[in-house]
Amino acid sequence: MSSAEIRNRFLAHFEARGHTVVPSASLLLDDPNLLFVNAGMVPFKPYFLGQETPPFQRATSVQKCVRTLDIEEVGKTTRHGTFFQMNGNFSFGDYFKEGAIQFAWELITNAQADGGFGFDPDKIWVTVLPEDAEARDAWKRIAGLPDDRIQPRGLKDNYWNMGVPGPGGPCSEIYIDRGPEFGPDGGPEADEDRFLEIWNLVFMQEELSAVRAKDDFDIAGPLPSKNIDTGMGLERVAYLLQDKHNMYEIDTIFPVIEKAMELSGKKYGASGADAHVDDVRFRVVADHVRSSLMLIGDGVTPGNEGRGYVLRRLLRRAVRNMRLLGYQDPALPELLPVSRDKMGESYPELVSGWDRIAQIAFAEEEAFRKTLQAGTQIFDLAAGDVKRSGATTIAGDKAFALHDTYGFPIDLTLEMAAEAGLSVDEPGFRQLMAEQRERAKADARAKKGHHADTGVYRDILDAHGPTEWLAYETLETESKPLALLREGAAVPALTGGEIGELVLDRTPFYAESGGQVADAGVIEFEGGALEVLDVQRPVRGLVVHQVRVLDGELRVSRLAGARTSTTESGLVHAKVDPQWRIGARQAHSGTHIVHAALREVLGPTALQSGSYNRPGYLRLDFGWLNALSPDQVREIEQVSNNALRADLPVGWQYMTLSEAKDWGAIALFGETYDDQKVRVVEIGGPWSRELCGGTHVEHSSQVGTIVVTSEASVGSGNRRIEALTGVEGFDYLARERDVVGQLSTLLKTQSGDIVGRVGDLLERLKQSEKEIEKIRLAQLLSGGAALAEGASDVNGVRLVAQRLDGASGGDVRTLATDVRARLAGDTPAVVVLIGAADGKAAIVAALNDAAQARGLAAGDLVRAAAPFLDGKGGGKADLAQGGGTDVSRIDEALAAVTAALAQG
Ligand code: ATP
Ligand code: MG
Repeated sequence: MSSAEIRNRFLAHFEARGHTVVPSASLLLDDPNLLFVNAGMVPFKPYFLGQETPPFQRATSVQKCVRTLDIEEVGKTTRHGTFFQMNGNFSFGDYFKEGAIQFAWELITNAQADGGFGFDPDKIWVTVLPEDAEARDAWKRIAGLPDDRIQPRGLKDNYWNMGVPGPGGPCSEIYIDRGPEFGPDGGPEADEDRFLEIWNLVFMQEELSAVRAKDDFDIAGPLPSKNIDTGMGLERVAYLLQDKHNMYEIDTIFPVIEKAMELSGKKYGASGADAHVDDVRFRVVADHVRSSLMLIGDGVTPGNEGRGYVLRRLLRRAVRNMRLLGYQDPALPELLPVSRDKMGESYPELVSGWDRIAQIAFAEEEAFRKTLQAGTQIFDLAAGDVKRSGATTIAGDKAFALHDTYGFPIDLTLEMAAEAGLSVDEPGFRQLMAEQRERAKADARAKKGHHADTGVYRDILDAHGPTEWLAYETLETESKPLALLREGAAVPALTGGEIGELVLDRTPFYAESGGQVADAGVIEFEGGALEVLDVQRPVRGLVVHQVRVLDGELRVSRLAGARTSTTESGLVHAKVDPQWRIGARQAHSGTHIVHAALREVLGPTALQSGSYNRPGYLRLDFGWLNALSPDQVREIEQVSNNALRADLPVGWQYMTLSEAKDWGAIALFGETYDDQKVRVVEIGGPWSRELCGGTHVEHSSQVGTIVVTSEASVGSGNRRIEALTGVEGFDYLARERDVVGQLSTLLKTQSGDIVGRVGDLLERLKQSEKEIEKIRLAQLLSGGAALAEGASDVNGVRLVAQRLDGASGGDVRTLATDVRARLAGDTPAVVVLIGAADGKAAIVAALNDAAQARGLAAGDLVRAAAPFLDGKGGGKADLAQGGGTDVSRIDEALAAVTAALAQG
């Protein structure tokens, strides 16, 4: 049975049983605790947490998931992929254990002819929490499973919670026995390879008040309404139903392995010494190529941290494993399309977005190939050093540096070392790796701790319900203060100068999101006022203002949760700064307009990858490989400003995600679209349609102006455009105009002639410098006669020893020989000149014949002087020269020459 069929049957099964089919959310769904969506329930979290009311009681989905914890295990086990799809059915306060077990049992055991998966009931095992008698009974009654195929398993395996206070409950997992050839008997407890977990049913039934570990938590009591969350691995079911031995051989993955075989000339599943190692490589290639495809498809670009780094690792590992299989040429252009053809059947956006995906992936491979090349040179140097020193082992820190600095993988280092007849201090390398991993973990723990703080916000949310958020409707509200926090803890009051957080029952303040900064403004209360510094939504539904007390003291009732207790606090007046908001609206609409202009000029593959806007300023990052030409930048600016001048209407409406897609709206990745209805902002009808929760102007002309101030690279495959909007745009242009005005006054020319005028001036300056240089040289040389005349007598030798500032080697030599010619005759004559130019000293000694006859040598004199110049030199008896880098001791150098002559 094909993967597509398994997916369809799953959805159809649950749709027929009253479930709403919900499309997969993006892998990048916003969740502070997750890098990627890793389970089918993630998009439904707000419903399970009671933060939002679900629009349905039953739902089913096939959710894209990425789990990267075991990236190194891929291909070694039979059942773990970095990307996989989780089929799920969900009940929100509707059916519970019995229903979930009934639905699951029907689907897996119904005959294939009747729309089921047709698994043999005798091969099915399940696990339950030992104390969950209810589940055990249900399995016996509904499925007729014998006791010995219902295995008890403890909290670690069979209890689910979110790691934070909230819902929790026992699980029941469904396993298929693959047969005695795959391991010992004894159920999943004995062997998880023979007994393959395909489905996990989670029964959310209790409220946890504290969670310390997976198996260490406090139960506060039963949940008022019980929920079901299940997850069935699509690839795992496929590998069983397609009679394969692991998930990498199924219909949607194996074609990549086939292509890799063709390219490398190696055989998957061969026998022989290296066969297993090669098989793992083939699987890694196929898994990673597919995961990379899905990640880029959802908007990830390679980078050095977070999501981007995961993608980079996957792509690099795929490429490297192809090299290890013996294929040296660019591999992704060959492999990625194979994966696209298979996955595109369920995810058509991979086909429609192919150009962008390919561009990003291929560029990353090119970059990695360069890294490999550079790393290879560094490796050769290191290997050379080791050999010259007579050793045979490359030190661990060298291998680590190659890995860490050049991204040069250890197995490649090992392999190349072996080829060079060397070994690598692998334990040393592993030690350094372990230390680095420890540091990373400590980092992650620190970050987790930060998120755990959301507990306090969740408590506020539980006590008071979600904030009534009125940013679209009004700039001012009368609001009731519900809670005050200082340094993360609830406090009864905030007073003069203090900074803390305030939660109101309703607020007009825009909380930072979708690239738009939070509103600024004040909150006034009887006897005082607060300045709003920041506004965030730390948990969904709750708006939190960070405030500084300007004046007075604000108190809230200590009776948390007492909604009526306003006696101590009264109402406050929340006021968004209207100027700020106008600026923010201009900048946000400006961002959409620049994005649309970008796509008009560069084509639809230019897609925003991030944005930020605040009053007067916007920046937009987008996937694009090359620098834009000045003409392209200007055209983008022009198209943007034409859109302002056209006074396009700006509007927004709510619709379902699929309606939005049909409408051509651009869904930007990483945004949360789990609402049934999404908000689409459009400017000029179809010209710009984006999913967006921000605040906007009503007509494009209200943006005022858009002035692009820069275009630059922000990491591989991403560019950034920055622009100013509204008054800031005008101010910028006005400042530029002032500069031009001052220049034209200075240059006494019209502004249109400034460039030509400055060009002329620069040209004249260059000519003048050349002239000056000529004159300087002439002057220098004309000094020869004077120098000769000024010769002193040292020990019967006529000596000219002189420093020449501004003269370099050639000048000094010319002058020295000139002076010597003037001192020809029977009297010994010595000329020593030291020039100093550009921080360098140049020394020349020239002797006439008589001096040489006296036994003097020019080389000796240069050698006597050079050490003072921090330099060296030498030459023949008649002429020698040298140089040095210290010009501060030229006088001492000359004195040394005189002294040498005086000694004879
Ligand atoms: P395992 O113990 O086998 O690693 P799990 O307990 O981590 O699986 P769950 O979190 O219960 O898995 O996820 C529900 C289902 O999703 C599993 O029953 C399995 O079918 C599937 N699944 C989980 N992780 C993967 C993966 N890395 N690759 C493919 N399928 C997976
Ligand atoms: Mg499980």
